[in-house]
Amino acid sequence: MTVSRGRDFLALPGPTTVPHEVLQAMHRPAVDIYGEELTAVTDSCLDDLRRVFRTDQGRAYIYIANGHGAWEAALSNVLSRGDKVLVLESGRFAVGWGEMAEPLGIEVEVLAERPQRAVSPQALDERLRADKAGDIKAILVVQVDTASGVVNDIPALGKAIQASGHGALFMVDVIASLGSMPFEMDDWGVDVAVAGAQKGLMMTPGLSFIAAGGKALAAHADAGLRTRYWDWTVREGDLHYMKYCGTPPVHLLFGLRKSLDMLLEEGLENAFRRHALLAGATQAAVERWCDVGALDFSIVEPSERSPTVTTILLEEPHLGRLLDWCWKVCNVSLGIGLGPLSGHAFRIAHMGHVNAPMMLGTLGAIETGLTALDIPHGKGGVSAAVDYLGARLKA
Ligand SMILES: *Cc1c(COP(=O)(O)O)cnc(C)c1O
Repeated sequence: MTVSRGRDFLALPGPTTVPHEVLQAMHRPAVDIYGEELTAVTDSCLDDLRRVFRTDQGRAYIYIANGHGAWEAALSNVLSRGDKVLVLESGRFAVGWGEMAEPLGIEVEVLAERPQRAVSPQALDERLRADKAGDIKAILVVQVDTASGVVNDIPALGKAIQASGHGALFMVDVIASLGSMPFEMDDWGVDVAVAGAQKGLMMTPGLSFIAAGGKALAAHADAGLRTRYWDWTVREGDLHYMKYCGTPPVHLLFGLRKSLDMLLEEGLENAFRRHALLAGATQAAVERWCDVGALDFSIVEPSERSPTVTTILLEEPHLGRLLDWCWKVCNVSLGIGLGPLSGHAFRIAHMGHVNAPMMLGTLGAIETGLTALDIPHGKGGVSAAVDYLGARLKA
């Protein structure tokens, strides 16, 4: 006995909901990969990606790869075997980037996380000042850690690097944040930014993106880890085929063109505001559920909770029962806990092509599940979300 007729809803932090317009843009025959139509799509996507990354000076690259591929691309284009990177841990993903670096022969030092908090700019400043010999060649950090649900203060970390006078490259993973919250590559002093298609950018999985600034391009000139497939230099120049080091991902490019059009038509500022509102509503509901009982936020400081994903601590057997129930009875697929939070948390994504009914429906499904399964929780989460939005969306 369920109420599960109707559409499934992925409330996962990637892949996220792909708009019908984007799916439709891909549903067409392949085109000549040397023809003007596709070349123009590549050029305009690269220009628009630079707009979304907010870089005037930087170069952009499109890879036929998921985020892990772009992680490796970023490392191999600017570093050499034996170089050292400093990973700023705040959940799972920066550490995952470091794990991509190790087999390349890069030495990885992890600046341990503050439990349940964002990366501390002060701790970074201190570590960099202690590195008198300048051994650290790059700093790896995520803007949003999709596992812990934290948002790191990238401008503050950029300032800490500048204040320390250290020359390391500042490399930022914006896979779970680009297009969903402010990011200012040039103004924040970011040298390399890495993004993926299937989160806030509303595309199917399969593409990832890198923006590289002047300092990164200078480091690229003598990076020893360069390989032909990932190499930025190979991808420069006029030959369209070489921008992908082989056959372009024709259909994915038509989809990307559409998703960038949709994002830019909405306007970046409007998209950021929408994400902030839906995150606020979600977190208002979760706060109410946490009043009594079994649930808790993974991130203790409210201002450090991500505008794109909320991670909620819940133990077994409640956890498995709730996720199962939401999927089987209400067609809502929630994110599972990752890394150290595996088996101890679930995640609600509010990222990409989402609106108020999708989020209020998701919150309603979860609260119904908490009630149906007698999981101890504070009541009134959905009405807290409604009050939150109602107060901010007055006509
Ligand atoms: C999803 C994600 C990744 C990994 O991307 P894949 O496309 O799954 O390889 C990396 N970093 C962050 C912050 C992510 O959210």
